[in-house]
Amino acid sequence: MIATRRKFLQTSVLSSAAVLTGGQVLADTASRPQPAVDNRIVISTWDFGKAANAEAWKILSKGGRALDAVEAGVKVPEADPSNRSVGYGGLPDRDGRVTLDACIMDEFYNCGSVMALEHIVHAISVARLVMEKTPHIVLAGDGALQFALANGFEKQNLLTPESEAAWRKWLKTSRYEPVMNVENKLFRKENDPMPGGPYNHDTIGMVAMDGTGNLSGACTTSGMAYKIHGRVGDSPIIGAGLYVDNEVGAATSTGVGEEVIRIVGSHLVVELMRQGRSPEAACREAVERIIQRNPGQAKKIQVGFLALNKKGEYGAWALQKGFTYAVKNNREENIFASKSIYT
Ligand code: ASP
Repeated sequence: MIATRRKFLQTSVLSSAAVLTGGQVLADTASRPQPAVDNRIVISTWDFGKAANAEAWKILSKGGRALDAVEAGVKVPEADPSNRSVGYGGLPDRDGRVTLDACIMDEFYNCGSVMALEHIVHAISVARLVMEKTPHIVLAGDGALQFALANGFEKQNLLTPESEAAWRKWLKTSRYEPVMNVENKLFRKENDPMPGGPYNHDTIGMVAMDGTGNLSGACTTSGMAYKIHGRVGDSPIIGAGLYVDNEVGAATSTGVGEEVIRIVGSHLVVELMRQGRSPEAACREAVERIIQRNPGQAKKIQVGFLALNKKGEYGAWALQKGFTYAVKNNREENIFASKSIYT
């Protein structure tokens, strides 16, 4: 009797699924929210974002979660020794130590961050673990390293011979001077004696929307080259280098972190989108705020913002020309030159 009833239920579920899918029986998704259009998208800072987006897209395209996609995506530049501003191979501080800053945020306002983390390539994965396995949001320095080692991460020398050579050369003058990345990819290829550029700071910030319309973001960097040991930039600070509000949108930043922290940049961009600005207009207003706060400094430095809203619209703006960002969705895989205040 029970068996017969179960069989009847199975048959009726199958036939309703069949009706829903026009004759073809697929996994039952009727109870899950389905966006009207495919808004899956991943965007990230700089041209090296393209390879990172491709990795993130492997997850998004299979129906995976935005959080998993952004973590997997930014691990690409973290592991790439030719990238001199993120992870392994990143330029060191003035004492020759590579210290990493990273943070991650999901659709539920969960967030995790590590600051001034040494010896661990995938700072982003440590940040995710802080988010998921601790009652805290931020772990810094030795504590972050201890936590990573206790959770199975491997200790590694992050200073490559190329980055060490660049640091030794810098020691001759020892002048702390952010060198802007204000040129494009072509310049790097033709004139760059070392991959990673003559400039000495950048970050990968990535934000994504998955098939259920949820947003997440990740941000990871080795920070400003030759900084004072212990200096922390905007990148691991929730609200400065990254912010995700699943009701509104997500934003991330790159450039001189001190100026981004001063205006709590990524949170500002998201709040401006909440007030109705497009992603591009919101990024522009945040950049203009930096100029208002510190006009003398703004002319000499680079800061760029990148944003995505709940409709899947995206945009960017920077202080100086040369900021690029990469976009991947079902329709496009592109690198764009951001608009800027100073050209
Ligand atoms: N925002 C990073 C920092 O201040 C550097 C960069 O993105 O250029 O550490």
